[in-house]
Amino acid sequence: MALDDTLLPALLEAGLLHDTGVRGVYGRGTPFEDVLQRFDQYATRELAEESAELIRFPPVLPRRIIERSGYLKSFPHLAGTVFSYTGDERGHAEMLANVEAGEDWSASQTMTDVVLVPAACYPVYPHVAGCGALPAGGRTIDVSSYCFRHEPSDDPARMQSFRMHELVRIGAPADVEAWQRHWIERGLEILGRLGLAAESAPANDPFFGRGGRMLAANQRAQELKFELLAPIAQSGEGTAIMSVNYHQDHFGSVYDIRTVTGEVAHSACLGFGLERVTLALLVRHGLDPARWPDEVRRELWGTA
Ligand code: ATP
Ligand code: ZN
Repeated sequence: MALDDTLLPALLEAGLLHDTGVRGVYGRGTPFEDVLQRFDQYATRELAEESAELIRFPPVLPRRIIERSGYLKSFPHLAGTVFSYTGDERGHAEMLANVEAGEDWSASQTMTDVVLVPAACYPVYPHVAGCGALPAGGRTIDVSSYCFRHEPSDDPARMQSFRMHELVRIGAPADVEAWQRHWIERGLEILGRLGLAAESAPANDPFFGRGGRMLAANQRAQELKFELLAPIAQSGEGTAIMSVNYHQDHFGSVYDIRTVTGEVAHSACLGFGLERVTLALLVRHGLDPARWPDEVRRELWGTA
């Protein structure tokens, strides 16, 4: 398949995605959602070796968490905050008049206690901190959620609202570091079996501003973030369909998470971008999943 500017129209035309009028916000058609769910089940089977505890958090997060975690310092441009109306009837009439006139009505809105989840793992750290010291061997938690990032784009791989299935490992530094290395290799194997010849590469998060450039350089130099890349848009480099991040003691320090021996815990997470994996499969094998290679269909559907 082709360049970004032909991929999106082709996906819409095939009923894989549905336009909503806002860039990066789509309805998912039956074949798209079927592939996504089948991949998610396949990934769940592959992740089973970790015997992770499954927890599902909603796609909103207490505002306090992103205030405390450093997210607003690093990614103010991506964060989505939830506002609502808390005024009286007069204020309501003013708000409606502004809406009617097509004018800015944001002054009528008040910030609520929740924000949109930027990554599925964010609720995990304060939850684990609230449980007291970690058990021996640490904890591994499976989370999955719709995530929001304010990055409107015509690239179908850069959505504003998308799903991430993650495993989060929290424990002693050496265990967590070894876990990250292990999952970079396993990730390549899992994706490779679906015909996605992904490559792994050190990467950095899109930190904001001048200070952010230093954080990004540091992250890359220390190889704290790996992305598994596959072609989606052929115009550029591969797109990250899976990420494996090592946060060192960042979340352990922020939330005071301690190992059984009392040291500050380290953490890492691996995450599949479910829409991006689906897009990578469609680009690799064609827009009609019924005609995909037998070996790929067997992995995902159990029959060719
Ligand atoms: P990118 O560098 O492309 O912005 P990222 O490295 O910031 O992505 P992570 O924060 O590591 O991404 O998120 C985990 C996974 O979520 C990524 O590997 C990717 O598959 C997926 N993802 C991230 N941003 C988007 C997006 N805007 N639309 C769809 N999927 C995304
Ligand atoms: Zn994460």
